[in-house]
Amino acid sequence: MHLPDAPPANTTPQAPGHHAEESDESSIQKHLSGAIYEHRVRPGTKLPEADLCRIYGVNRGVIRKVLDRLATDQLIELIPNRGAFVARPSVELTRDVYALRRILEAGVVRSLAKAPFHPWLEDVRQQVDEEREANRLGDTGHYIRLAGKFHLDLAAATRNTALEQHLKRVVSQTSLMVALYDVPGTNTCSVHEHLEILQAIEAGDYNRAERLMEEHLLGCERQLRLSDDEAQATDLAKALNPVSPRGVPSRPNGMQIAS
Ligand SMILES: [Zn+2]
Repeated sequence: MHLPDAPPANTTPQAPGHHAEESDESSIQKHLSGAIYEHRVRPGTKLPEADLCRIYGVNRGVIRKVLDRLATDQLIELIPNRGAFVARPSVELTRDVYALRRILEAGVVRSLAKAPFHPWLEDVRQQVDEEREANRLGDTGHYIRLAGKFHLDLAAATRNTALEQHLKRVVSQTSLMVALYDVPGTNTCSVHEHLEILQAIEAGDYNRAERLMEEHLLGCERQLRLSDDEAQATDLAKALNPVSPRGVPSRPNGMQIAS
């Protein structure tokens, strides 16, 4: 298979047989989910198998496995006799998921602030600097990914795997919601608020950390236009074939989202 505008083959040696197929599936999954998270492929977009086979240069078996995985992550919906569509979460579900995030993430920052040491904190702080820079440069995809990563990194810092995995899924869901309901030109995560949350954790002020996180997530939710659910049409081939300055797919590697 080929990823659109992928780096030369000799930089990414492929294992033979089954391993090559598995590697195809993983690469396509990351590329496609990245395109969804970065809002290049809008919620509600149909994902015809034949188009995806052509775009990625693989057979239907590979594409079906990828679609199954994306459905498990709730990023797409598989509708019998109609095919695969990028998920379109309802307004009601959007509000519920943000409420869930407030509960989970208030708990995350509370437990982090109560810990005596914060060995992870400098790394996350540096990343927030990167987030600010990406925002300043107008590198929206990178910015959205880093903004989402902030929330996942805090969850990871608790070293509670169950919590981390659960939050990953919920943050993914909100990413789709942002793609569906955001107002063009607004940013859903405030870099300044991220830094304030880190300061409160560092100071051990768990009440403040918890309050700041709740307000931050409420602010994110308020920026969404939750009365208008009209998705814009997506040109699939164009969206999945982005040309970045380095001539490789613009950051196909998965996850990282807005909040
Ligand atoms: Zn945030």
